[in-house]
Amino acid sequence: MPSYRYCPHCGTPLMALPMSGRERMACVQDGCQFVQWDNPLPVLAAVVEYEGKLLLARNAAWPPSMYALVTGFLERDETPEAGVARELKEETNLDAQSVSLIGVYEFMRKNELIIAYHVRATGTIALSEELADYKLVAPEKMRIWNAGTGFAVADWLAARGYPVRFFDRQTGEDIPDPRQAARAEGAGATLQYRP
Ligand SMILES: [Zn+2]
Repeated sequence: MPSYRYCPHCGTPLMALPMSGRERMACVQDGCQFVQWDNPLPVLAAVVEYEGKLLLARNAAWPPSMYALVTGFLERDETPEAGVARELKEETNLDAQSVSLIGVYEFMRKNELIIAYHVRATGTIALSEELADYKLVAPEKMRIWNAGTGFAVADWLAARGYPVRFFDRQTGEDIPDPRQAARAEGAGATLQYRP
Protein backbone atom coordinates (compact mmCIF):
# COMPACT_ATOMS: atom_id res chain seq x y z
CA MET A 1 0.00 0.00 0.00
CA PRO A 2 1.61 3.33 -1.01
CA SER A 3 2.05 6.00 1.60
CA TYR A 4 0.47 9.18 0.27
CA ARG A 5 1.71 12.67 1.05
CA TYR A 6 -0.92 14.29 -1.11
CA CYS A 7 -4.57 13.35 -1.37
CA PRO A 8 -4.95 10.87 -4.26
CA HIS A 9 -8.42 12.31 -4.91
CA CYS A 10 -7.83 16.06 -4.96
CA GLY A 11 -4.08 16.64 -4.55
CA THR A 12 -4.26 18.56 -1.26
CA PRO A 13 -1.35 17.85 1.12
CA LEU A 14 -2.50 15.36 3.74
CA MET A 15 -2.42 16.31 7.40
CA ALA A 16 -2.01 14.21 10.52
CA LEU A 17 -5.34 14.24 12.35
CA PRO A 18 -6.54 12.22 15.33
CA MET A 19 -9.17 9.79 14.05
CA SER A 20 -10.52 6.57 15.51
CA GLY A 21 -7.91 6.43 18.21
CA ARG A 22 -4.84 7.14 16.11
CA GLU A 23 -3.20 9.85 14.15
CA ARG A 24 -4.10 9.40 10.45
CA MET A 25 -3.01 11.20 7.35
CA ALA A 26 -6.22 12.76 6.11
CA CYS A 27 -7.42 15.25 3.52
CA VAL A 28 -8.78 18.49 4.97
CA GLN A 29 -10.21 19.82 1.71
CA ASP A 30 -13.94 20.63 2.03
CA GLY A 31 -16.04 17.81 0.61
CA CYS A 32 -13.12 15.40 0.28
CA GLN A 33 -13.06 12.80 2.99
CA PHE A 34 -9.99 10.83 2.03
CA VAL A 35 -8.24 9.18 4.97
CA GLN A 36 -5.16 7.04 4.69
CA TRP A 37 -6.20 4.32 7.11
CA ASP A 38 -3.01 2.36 6.46
CA ASN A 39 -4.58 -0.96 7.44
CA PRO A 40 -2.49 -4.08 6.87
CA LEU A 41 -2.95 -5.76 3.51
CA PRO A 42 -3.79 -9.47 3.58
CA VAL A 43 -1.28 -11.67 1.81
CA LEU A 44 -1.80 -15.35 1.03
CA ALA A 45 0.92 -17.87 1.70
CA ALA A 46 1.07 -21.55 0.80
CA VAL A 47 2.89 -24.32 2.62
CA VAL A 48 2.94 -26.50 -0.48
CA GLU A 49 3.18 -30.23 0.01
CA TYR A 50 4.27 -31.91 -3.21
CA GLU A 51 5.29 -35.55 -3.47
CA GLY A 52 5.75 -35.73 0.31
CA LYS A 53 8.02 -32.69 0.43
CA LEU A 54 7.57 -28.99 1.05
CA LEU A 55 8.13 -26.67 -1.85
CA LEU A 56 10.11 -23.51 -1.24
CA ALA A 57 10.63 -20.96 -3.95
CA ARG A 58 13.15 -18.25 -4.60
CA ASN A 59 11.97 -14.97 -6.02
CA ALA A 60 14.11 -13.73 -8.91
CA ALA A 61 14.83 -10.54 -6.95
CA TRP A 62 16.11 -12.36 -3.85
CA PRO A 63 19.63 -13.35 -2.83
CA PRO A 64 20.65 -16.84 -4.03
CA SER A 65 20.25 -18.58 -0.67
CA MET A 66 16.82 -17.20 0.18
CA TYR A 67 13.82 -19.49 -0.31
CA ALA A 68 10.32 -19.03 1.03
CA LEU A 69 6.70 -19.93 0.60
CA VAL A 70 4.66 -19.17 -2.46
CA THR A 71 2.79 -15.98 -1.65
CA GLY A 72 0.52 -13.54 -3.38
CA PHE A 73 -2.28 -11.06 -2.99
CA LEU A 74 -5.96 -11.68 -3.20
CA GLU A 75 -7.84 -10.43 -6.21
CA ARG A 76 -11.16 -8.68 -5.87
CA ASP A 77 -14.09 -11.12 -5.72
CA GLU A 78 -11.86 -14.05 -4.88
CA THR A 79 -11.99 -16.31 -1.84
CA PRO A 80 -8.62 -16.76 -0.10
CA GLU A 81 -8.75 -20.49 -0.85
CA ALA A 82 -9.22 -19.83 -4.55
CA GLY A 83 -6.58 -17.09 -4.41
CA VAL A 84 -3.90 -19.32 -2.95
CA ALA A 85 -4.68 -22.05 -5.51
CA ARG A 86 -4.47 -19.48 -8.31
CA GLU A 87 -1.15 -18.10 -7.06
CA LEU A 88 0.25 -21.61 -6.86
CA LYS A 89 -0.84 -22.34 -10.43
CA GLU A 90 0.53 -19.04 -11.75
CA GLU A 91 3.87 -19.32 -10.00
CA THR A 92 4.60 -23.06 -10.19
CA ASN A 93 2.04 -24.57 -12.58
CA LEU A 94 0.96 -26.95 -9.80
CA ASP A 95 -2.68 -27.79 -9.12
CA ALA A 96 -4.05 -27.50 -5.60
CA GLN A 97 -5.81 -30.69 -4.56
CA SER A 98 -6.70 -29.45 -1.10
CA VAL A 99 -6.39 -26.11 0.65
CA SER A 100 -6.67 -25.86 4.43
CA LEU A 101 -6.00 -22.98 6.77
CA ILE A 102 -2.89 -23.14 8.97
CA GLY A 103 -3.33 -19.77 10.61
CA VAL A 104 -3.11 -16.01 10.40
CA TYR A 105 0.19 -14.27 11.16
CA GLU A 106 1.33 -10.73 11.63
CA PHE A 107 3.86 -9.27 9.25
CA MET A 108 4.07 -5.76 10.67
CA ARG A 109 7.36 -4.99 9.00
CA LYS A 110 5.51 -4.79 5.69
CA ASN A 111 2.13 -3.78 7.13
CA GLU A 112 0.73 -7.08 5.92
CA LEU A 113 -1.31 -9.86 7.45
CA ILE A 114 -0.39 -13.36 6.37
CA ILE A 115 -3.13 -15.90 5.78
CA ALA A 116 -1.33 -19.21 5.52
CA TYR A 117 -2.68 -22.38 3.95
CA HIS A 118 -1.48 -25.92 3.65
CA VAL A 119 -1.87 -26.83 0.00
CA ARG A 120 -1.51 -30.37 -1.27
CA ALA A 121 -0.37 -30.04 -4.86
CA THR A 122 0.04 -32.24 -7.89
CA GLY A 123 1.23 -31.70 -11.43
CA THR A 124 4.47 -30.70 -13.11
CA ILE A 125 6.48 -27.80 -11.77
CA ALA A 126 7.10 -24.95 -14.20
CA LEU A 127 8.15 -21.69 -12.59
CA SER A 128 6.82 -18.30 -13.62
CA GLU A 129 9.27 -15.53 -14.49
CA GLU A 130 8.79 -14.16 -10.98
CA LEU A 131 10.56 -17.18 -9.53
CA ALA A 132 14.18 -18.05 -10.19
CA ASP A 133 14.35 -21.44 -8.48
CA TYR A 134 12.63 -23.86 -6.14
CA LYS A 135 13.60 -26.68 -3.86
CA LEU A 136 11.74 -29.57 -2.30
CA VAL A 137 12.56 -30.16 1.34
CA ALA A 138 11.57 -33.17 3.42
CA PRO A 139 9.50 -31.93 6.38
CA GLU A 140 11.93 -33.48 8.90
CA LYS A 141 14.82 -31.54 7.30
CA MET A 142 13.04 -28.22 7.21
CA ARG A 143 14.77 -25.20 8.73
CA ILE A 144 12.58 -22.20 9.34
CA TRP A 145 13.26 -18.53 8.84
CA ASN A 146 12.43 -16.09 11.62
CA ALA A 147 9.66 -14.06 9.97
CA GLY A 148 5.95 -14.03 9.13
CA THR A 149 5.53 -17.05 6.87
CA GLY A 150 8.16 -19.01 8.80
CA PHE A 151 5.80 -19.20 11.76
CA ALA A 152 3.16 -20.82 9.56
CA VAL A 153 5.68 -23.47 8.56
CA ALA A 154 6.57 -23.95 12.23
CA ASP A 155 2.94 -24.50 13.18
CA TRP A 156 2.42 -26.89 10.29
CA LEU A 157 5.48 -28.94 11.25
CA ALA A 158 4.66 -28.95 14.97
CA ALA A 159 1.10 -30.13 14.32
CA ARG A 160 2.52 -33.17 12.53
CA GLY A 161 5.20 -33.96 15.08
CA TYR A 162 8.14 -32.81 12.95
CA PRO A 163 11.06 -30.97 14.53
CA VAL A 164 10.73 -27.19 14.54
CA ARG A 165 14.13 -25.67 13.84
CA PHE A 166 14.66 -21.99 13.20
CA PHE A 167 17.70 -20.44 11.57
CA ASP A 168 18.98 -16.93 11.08
CA ARG A 169 18.77 -15.89 7.45
CA GLN A 170 21.79 -13.60 7.79
CA THR A 171 24.20 -16.00 9.43
CA GLY A 172 22.67 -19.35 8.44
CA GLU A 173 23.05 -20.46 12.07
CA ASP A 174 20.38 -22.31 14.04
CA ILE A 175 18.59 -20.10 16.56
CA PRO A 176 16.16 -20.80 19.42
CA ASP A 177 12.44 -20.57 18.65
CA PRO A 178 11.98 -16.77 18.42
CA ARG A 179 8.30 -17.09 19.35
CA GLN A 180 9.18 -18.37 22.79
CA ALA A 181 11.47 -15.41 23.42
CA ALA A 182 8.69 -13.06 22.31
CA ARG A 183 6.18 -14.78 24.57
CA ALA A 184 8.51 -14.52 27.57
CA GLU A 185 9.06 -10.83 26.84
CA GLY A 186 5.34 -10.19 26.47
CA ALA A 187 4.36 -12.06 29.62
CA GLY A 188 2.98 -9.69 32.21
CA ALA A 189 3.25 -6.69 29.92
CA THR A 190 0.20 -4.55 29.36
CA LEU A 191 -0.82 -3.37 25.94
CA GLN A 192 0.92 -0.08 25.33
CA TYR A 193 -1.24 2.15 23.28
CA ARG A 194 -1.48 5.92 23.32
CA PRO A 195 -3.89 7.51 20.93
ZN1 LIG B 1 -8.72 15.22 -0.96
